[in-house]
Amino acid sequence: MAEKLYVVIPCYNEEAVLHITAQKTQEKLNALIAAGRISPDSRVLFVDDGSADATWDGIASLHEQNRMFCGIRLSRNKGHQKALLAGLMTAKDRADIVISMDADLQDDLNAFDGFLDEREKGCEVVYGVRSSRKKDSWFKRATAQGYYKLLKKMGVEITYNHADFRLMSKKALEGLEQFREVNLFLRGLVPMIGYKSAVVEYERSERAAGESKYPLKKMISFAVEGITSLSVKPIKMITSLGLLVFGVSIILLIYFLVTYFMGKAVQGWSTIVISIWAIGGLQLFAIGVIGEYIGKIYLETKDRPNYLIAEILE
Ligand code: UDP
Ligand code: MG
Repeated sequence: MAEKLYVVIPCYNEEAVLHITAQKTQEKLNALIAAGRISPDSRVLFVDDGSADATWDGIASLHEQNRMFCGIRLSRNKGHQKALLAGLMTAKDRADIVISMDADLQDDLNAFDGFLDEREKGCEVVYGVRSSRKKDSWFKRATAQGYYKLLKKMGVEITYNHADFRLMSKKALEGLEQFREVNLFLRGLVPMIGYKSAVVEYERSERAAGESKYPLKKMISFAVEGITSLSVKPIKMITSLGLLVFGVSIILLIYFLVTYFMGKAVQGWSTIVISIWAIGGLQLFAIGVIGEYIGKIYLETKDRPNYLIAEILE
């Protein structure tokens, strides 16, 4: 029996691209159904992440035209990761396998075939990985690659050049469900599930229509989230830094004592001022890093729901 596939697509203000994406995805699913690779009951599940434009109306009219399209609407904008989680968890109870992708057709639909090949070989998770970043701006390419390297150094297990384009089986999603995290960085969390996985390469294209919903500010906070939600190394580094600075002060103390007993008076006004600022800055930075983690603990202990579903069309 061919497995039932749900394609989960988070959408935030995507009215410009929604219909093209729907049409292309439908064509792809129909081809896969005709080839007997997926069940005829397969669906496309749009998650409206509290859009302010006509995205939800678009989803509703698609649903009217064709029951292959279904949708959930979150109570408000919760961000890409939570919208994706809402979609995955909704699809989990209805499908055998789920593919998540962006609404803008940057992810190649033809990679679905490769995903299904790996699935047939028994994989529970298949990662879509970009074969190149030619289409990205120089800035995005450089920062993204530096960032993946930094994550590795921080001990975060992550698949290089993989965003959130991936296939997950019901079993893998049930595993993911047990990671009850509020601070979500899915691409770092999924490898922790374990199970058999594989990688499928694809060429990432440009956004089909509309604008990026990840301005620099969101990108930076997402990047910080990735590190602080998965690694405690920064706190450990602060401890080492503190020891180092303390060591330096001991050396300085010895140096000053020696010069004092040698009778050379030190006129170190500037040295003192610089030290005060340097140490003050380091301390503030250290407190800030620790504060990041305490903030995270605070949020996790509240145990707030990650999302609330306002409406569902199926
Ligand atoms: N997205 C979302 N909620 C948000 C921001 C983005 O659901 O608050 C969705 C968006 O609709 C898209 C995906 O996340 O489907 C990736 O966003 P985008 O393509 O703008 O990011 P980029 O490719 O520029 O990094
Ligand atoms: Mg995009």
